[in-house]
Amino acid sequence: MIRRMAARVAVIGAGSAGLAAARGLADAGHRVTLVTDGLVGGECPYLACIPSKAMLHAAAAGRSWDDAVAFRDEAAHHRDDHDSADAVQERGVELVRGRASVAARHRLRVVVDGGEREVAFDDLVVATGAGAVTPPVDGLDGVGFWTSEDALSRPDLPERPVILGGGPIGCELAQIYAGFGADVTLVETERHLLPREPAFVGEQVAAALARGGVRVMTGTAARRVSPTDHGAAVVDLRGEQIRTDRVLVATGKRPRTDGLDLERLGVRLTDAGAVVIDDRCAAAAGVWAIGDVTAIAPWTHWANRQARAVVTNITGDTVDRVDARGVPRTVFTDPAVCCVGTTPDDPEDVAAAGLVREGIDLDDLARGRVDERHDGRIELWGDPEQGLVVGGAAVGPMADAWMHEIVLAVHARVPLATLCDTVHAFPTWNEAVGIIVERLAAACHGCRATSEPARGEHR
Ligand SMILES: Cc1cc2nc3c(=O)[nH]c(=O)nc-3n(C[C@H](O)[C@H](O)[C@H](O)COP(=O)(O)OP(=O)(O)OC[C@H]3O[C@@H](n4cnc5c(N)ncnc54)[C@H](O)[C@@H]3O)c2cc1C
Repeated sequence: MIRRMAARVAVIGAGSAGLAAARGLADAGHRVTLVTDGLVGGECPYLACIPSKAMLHAAAAGRSWDDAVAFRDEAAHHRDDHDSADAVQERGVELVRGRASVAARHRLRVVVDGGEREVAFDDLVVATGAGAVTPPVDGLDGVGFWTSEDALSRPDLPERPVILGGGPIGCELAQIYAGFGADVTLVETERHLLPREPAFVGEQVAAALARGGVRVMTGTAARRVSPTDHGAAVVDLRGEQIRTDRVLVATGKRPRTDGLDLERLGVRLTDAGAVVIDDRCAAAAGVWAIGDVTAIAPWTHWANRQARAVVTNITGDTVDRVDARGVPRTVFTDPAVCCVGTTPDDPEDVAAAGLVREGIDLDDLARGRVDERHDGRIELWGDPEQGLVVGGAAVGPMADAWMHEIVLAVHARVPLATLCDTVHAFPTWNEAVGIIVERLAAACHGCRATSEPARGEHR
């Protein structure tokens, strides 16, 4: 691989993905122009990850609402991006505040305050993120609903919020509001919360939310929302009329590709508007895409990983291929959730994939007997043919931290034999891993004797 001369690189979007790429590319000696119409840093530090985690922490610590909001705003730098903007420019990146679209093969058109300008590029990095989608509920547009951005940046505490969407964002917001005494209803159309994960995960989170006073309604769709007085509304749920002072929408996101004119560069989009990329994050010759706009794994840690790959691949020292199989999927409720890899729920799907599945409740562990917070369960999916753990799902105190052993095992294809031989400290939650991998190994002919990972792919 030959290292390229300094390229002119344009990056659209200065969120987690675009900012990390711009910094890395500038450090590698490229001439970088970073164009954004949002805050430098994107949603994560100001409107998403950081303020939501700050509020969850403040609720658990028993702070007052006003105190929590002050803590949240401090953690989110009061949504002031000047430090980040200065820092990236000090590294040599040209920052352009405006809205970009593709004008021609090597040219962007950027609508800036008071006019338009052009940005020339050899390579283009698309990192425009994703925006909240509004579900097709009759009357919703007429009631001034909030998205998570509103919920995490406004100072007011709704008294009776109805949250539509029981994914990670809806569950976290429900726990935040309930923690400050609000009368929360959380509505999910699928049969369990966190519908992309195995059922036990969402069921355990639902039980924890219910203990905290949240009314969880699964298998339920909002039929209609009708405005009443002073911004309040009535939501029709299964024929029941629920009065609310705030409807909150957390029903998913759509990649921001409308109006970018990427087709001029031969870029393909999925039906949902995501940029199609290969494992180098390449979308077309000289065009790269990273972060939520690729809709592969909507997490900051994955955006950062993709950014690192693009820096390497544009610079050309080596080829960096990314693998989403080992990306952790976390929810920071209490108990927390962390899932990774292949985790089919239906026993027929498990059998069809040739996998075995084993699990243990956390209160069956020694740690569970000495820790007041022992709600939870961990399950692992193993491939007996190859002697590997291919997936894991856990709900439990700090599962986001201790599941990283399984994150590493799935990502690096650590042999079951190695996991079996690993000594887990007593009494920790990770002891569960030791117990389960022993059981998986029993289902796996001869894999305990194997020290080399078997070859092959999991999908
Ligand atoms: C409530 C909430 C909590 C979350 N918590 C976590 C968490 O705890 N951990 C985690 O890993 N992830 C979390 N996420 C997900 C995480 O925030 C995203 O995965 C990550 O921020 C995506 O970064 P990005 O750079 O792809 O997009 P963004 O941060 O959205 O940045 C894209 C930027 O591009 C700009 N842009 C778009 N189009 C144009 C254009 N045409 N011209 C110029 N600029 C443009 C946008 O204005 C935006 O600022 C959370 C998300 C939400 C909503």
